[in-house]
Amino acid sequence: MNGKVLSILGSTGSIGTQTLDVCRMHGLRPAALTGGRNVDLLEAQAREFRPDFVALYDEGCARDLKIRLGDTSIRVAGGMGGLLEAAAIPAADVVVTAVVGTAGLRPTLAAIDAGKTIALANKETLVCAGELVMARARAKGVEILPVDSEHSAIFQCLSARENRVYKTIWLTASGGPFFGKTAAELENVTAEAALRHPNWSMGAKVTIDSATMMNKGLEFIEAMHLFSAPPEKIRVLVHPQSIVHSLVEFPDHSVIAQLGVPDMRVPIQYALTYPARAASPAGALDLVSAGALTFFEPDLDTFPCLRLAMETARIPGTACAVLNGANEAAVARFLSGRARFGDIYALTRLALEKIRNIEAPTLEDILAADAEAKAIVERN
Ligand code: NAD
Ligand code: MG
Repeated sequence: MNGKVLSILGSTGSIGTQTLDVCRMHGLRPAALTGGRNVDLLEAQAREFRPDFVALYDEGCARDLKIRLGDTSIRVAGGMGGLLEAAAIPAADVVVTAVVGTAGLRPTLAAIDAGKTIALANKETLVCAGELVMARARAKGVEILPVDSEHSAIFQCLSARENRVYKTIWLTASGGPFFGKTAAELENVTAEAALRHPNWSMGAKVTIDSATMMNKGLEFIEAMHLFSAPPEKIRVLVHPQSIVHSLVEFPDHSVIAQLGVPDMRVPIQYALTYPARAASPAGALDLVSAGALTFFEPDLDTFPCLRLAMETARIPGTACAVLNGANEAAVARFLSGRARFGDIYALTRLALEKIRNIEAPTLEDILAADAEAKAIVERN
């Protein structure tokens, strides 16, 4: 590949391990790797890839890892400090942000401040602080390249200079495991059922977000920031096969789409090789065996989280940080059996009703809104 050096934040997760697959295929050596609490996996990754630096967010786990890697020269750190150090590590050109949730915000800002290109998977960062992050990236002349498959598709459709003037971004959604159900049928579904995604194998939080379709709402907001798109120019289109990763319609009604098998290693790799393309570990698309490709309007009654997110997207200020933080806490409650599926929407809405919106927020306002939203979800 092009010899870029990576720092991978969240290397032990679904996007992180697939990023390392791409590294393996192209012989890339990351300068830094970080995880949350998975000592075994980060140790194995460190021994295989020999980065200069590794960090675990959990301080106790980081101490364990330091002992285990005592026979190597790899530096080990813990806590948010470790993540921030990995984000700004001098040897790296590109920081892959594959942490889940608001935890990715401060490291992403640190990477931008250090002038790194961002390969952005952590959509929550743009949902809670899109204005601030994009403004900081513009000021620093830093590129933010999307890893999310839909946004990678849109980015590719828009990449020719004459394609910058578009009419509509069509953001595709698989519909998740509950496509075709009614709201009443979903009220009490189990976490086990919600975790069974038909097309993608992903981390638990984004899988539940796909089941509620909040994921598409977060992606709607992510697209607004990545492409400076007003909300009225973005439409959601349900496409259960996840082959058409998104489409862009132009003023002459021409539509350009990006297609491929549902394999995140394709958009991950594109963010790393951009603007070049390279051979991929993912399979080829065989349209004959893929069968019929179908498209539907999203059902906003069954999936009120999507409606709520698209409404919140139109409110400048901290509202999107509240939506994002409340959803994150509500999904955690659902996954630990302390909330029903239907409560994810109800709790997120409650937080939005209770917390006053602050326009033109600072980073501190955003972090405070996120914390308050999470606290409300925990209390109710
Ligand atoms: P995951 O849960 O599999 O992995 C998350 C990673 O972040 C792990 O390495 C974990 O250890 C680390 N982590 C978790 N909490 C942390 C914390 N508080 N501090 C530091 N590190 C922490 O999640 P994922 O599916 O890989 O998703 C990562 C991000 O990419 C999410 O924002 C998700 O929405 C986005 N995304 C994922 C996919 C996918 O296919 N998995 C697709 C598109 C976008
Ligand atoms: Mg996506």
